[in-house]
Amino acid sequence: MSELNIDFTCVDRFIRYVKIDTQSDHDSTTSPTTEKQKDLARVLVAELKEMGITDVETNEYGYVYATIPSNTNKRVPVLCFCSHMDTSPDVTGKNVNPIIHKNYQGGDIILPMDNSQIIRENEHPQLKSRLGNDIITTDGTTLLGADNKAGVAEIMDAAKFLIDHPEIKHGKIRILFTPDEEVGKGVDKVDMKKLGAEVGYTIDGADLGSVENETFSADSVTIKIHGFSIHPGFAKDQLENAIKIGSEILSKLPKDTLSPETTEGREGFVHPVSFKGEIESVTIKFIIRDFEVDGLIEKEKFLKQITEEVVKKYKRSNFEFIVEESYRNMKEILDKDPKIIEYAMEAIKRAGIKPKLDSIRGGTDGSRLSFMGLPCPNIFAGEHAFHSKLEWVSVQDMQKAVETIINLCVIWEEKS
Ligand SMILES: [Zn+2]
Repeated sequence: MSELNIDFTCVDRFIRYVKIDTQSDHDSTTSPTTEKQKDLARVLVAELKEMGITDVETNEYGYVYATIPSNTNKRVPVLCFCSHMDTSPDVTGKNVNPIIHKNYQGGDIILPMDNSQIIRENEHPQLKSRLGNDIITTDGTTLLGADNKAGVAEIMDAAKFLIDHPEIKHGKIRILFTPDEEVGKGVDKVDMKKLGAEVGYTIDGADLGSVENETFSADSVTIKIHGFSIHPGFAKDQLENAIKIGSEILSKLPKDTLSPETTEGREGFVHPVSFKGEIESVTIKFIIRDFEVDGLIEKEKFLKQITEEVVKKYKRSNFEFIVEESYRNMKEILDKDPKIIEYAMEAIKRAGIKPKLDSIRGGTDGSRLSFMGLPCPNIFAGEHAFHSKLEWVSVQDMQKAVETIINLCVIWEEKS
């Protein structure tokens, strides 16, 4: 029982939502990338209507928009709460069979359908501090999808509470559920005008009490190497094999730094993600990450320099070097209005949790929304070990996230 006296529904919702397969697909060119994501969108629309929300819709792209109308005379900025409905393409999300381990008493959790899948206490330090909690896991054969259906369920639960409790004053609240976040397309088709929100919060963070105000800044680099192909029997002093040139470039990347596997905290990296081609030409794709744009540019310069040095040894070969912007660190935007983070920290405090400010070694829908005019930090949803069969979430953490969302609505009204 919380101070707000919430009759929580987030767990039942969560169990319903994770059973709906909403895996997105990197290779698809449609929006949404998979039609099945709309199965969850339709369920959410029906449940929002059932709560009594009239302004609710989903569209051909699979987005869900809904409004909780203002019930105050004050002019409060329109808030948007956002979570994504899709799950990662990395691990199957079909036939998810969630298991609730009531009153966790410590120790490893062995998943029943595949005993090699073990959530080890020493590898999941947060699990250790969840003694007495109810922990939801998979049966070991799929991912759970707490990333981000925990967030979806929490926003739905908060919406239900606000609708049922008109005595709790708040401004206009917009709800946004997106498809395709996991494939980097979560906000491609968002209609910002229709959304009409002024401040956003994604509910897609991990640890209890965390608010994330920083993401990576991200670019992609494509290097195309054009070699010189000729019949191998007549190739002496002529053939310039693009496959070998490409490998030579990769071999020049440092072994002990600048990669995802050798960095942490605020360090960025240069990360080759695909290598395709034949003797004549090769295409290598990289993702570049850093918290500072200067750091990104520096890394791109370094990569270009290596490429130049290698390719210039081959007189018939040349290369193209294409940089594309993916997203930018949202801190730049959020720093302009410190209230957005302050109120989030306050909302967590009021839920009885110690708030902590974090940065994400990745991006969120919010990093792009922030640059599209909707400043949008990320608040914890309680999800852990996502994109894996060992994914887990604590019921009590989910409930704290629901409280935090409600508190945020109240705080914005109070302080407006
Ligand atoms: Zn997520």
